[in-house]
Amino acid sequence: MLKAANISFGYTSKEVIKNISFKANKGDYIAIIGESGSGKSTLLEIIYGLLHIDKGTVFWNDEKLLGPNFRLIPGEDFIKYLPQDFDLMPYTTVEENIGKYISSQDKNKGKRIKELLKVVDMTEFSQTKVKNLSGGQKQRVAIAKVMAKEPEVLLLDEPFSHIDNFRKNKLRRDLFRYLKSKNILCIVATHDTTDALSFADKILVIRNGKLIANKAPEALYTNPKNAYIASFFDEINKIPLSEIDSNDISKKSVLLYPNQIKLAEKEGFKATVIASYFKGSYYLIEAVLNKTTLFFEHPSTLESNQKVFLEFIKK
Ligand code: ADP
Ligand code: MG
Repeated sequence: MLKAANISFGYTSKEVIKNISFKANKGDYIAIIGESGSGKSTLLEIIYGLLHIDKGTVFWNDEKLLGPNFRLIPGEDFIKYLPQDFDLMPYTTVEENIGKYISSQDKNKGKRIKELLKVVDMTEFSQTKVKNLSGGQKQRVAIAKVMAKEPEVLLLDEPFSHIDNFRKNKLRRDLFRYLKSKNILCIVATHDTTDALSFADKILVIRNGKLIANKAPEALYTNPKNAYIASFFDEINKIPLSEIDSNDISKKSVLLYPNQIKLAEKEGFKATVIASYFKGSYYLIEAVLNKTTLFFEHPSTLESNQKVFLEFIKK
């Protein structure tokens, strides 16, 4: 089990990681989400042992990790870390880049390289020099490279950022299935929440260096504590209660996803349509309710300026 307890850190006197604690089990997939600058990469670097922390501890099983001040080469051996800007050897082949981390004494070396190439769907490029690959292909090789030695813990920083959607879904499925089968704990920093929602065992949400949520995807999605959290998953409507109930003076609001607002037949909240956006399987309709702009899903396009009645569906 990985255990981070009360860790704080600042590059300068200003703390950018503030008293974060969490636990993760072998084989888990933990997604760290948060807006840019919230501290995701810093947290991964602390866990890996690149940054020294004065406050807090990181444990792996029962062993306290010592951090960079106590090691000749920073970074734990059983952990592999893929930074946001990965580096590969450009003038050597894909196969050599991955194989570099597997001992040539290892009689399964060839088989292992093949297995990893398959996970990242790069088999046909095994003999291609890295400099001749696209950004997304390089990223896939970099992912295979950090798995070469079969770490116990894998830390990935925005691992799919250069990979086009067409490939991303298959890669995610193959990669996370593979990691589960090997019981590798994987912690991924991402601002793409599809990674998190469909695959993660737990999602950690970071805001300004603080851990503001640590929950399973469904629980987090269905019951987001605030608009910051909900906005990672979908366009979110924050509707003041006073808009819904003229007697309400609480200044509170409710959070609704676009799929929780529907057209009502005869009566409901009166809104004016602003625009319709085609989303493939539905249209996202932008409308105004009194002074509040909101978004809802609808099977067909609606005309601008059209008056509609809306109803809100609670989960
Ligand atoms: P994220 O990965 O969520 O985008 P980071 O962990 O990279 O966030 O950054 C967290 C905060 O730390 C930001 O305010 C960033 O500007 C600051 N920061 C990151 N790296 C450094 C550094 N090497 N020196 C000083 N400040 C840094
Ligand atoms: Mg980052």
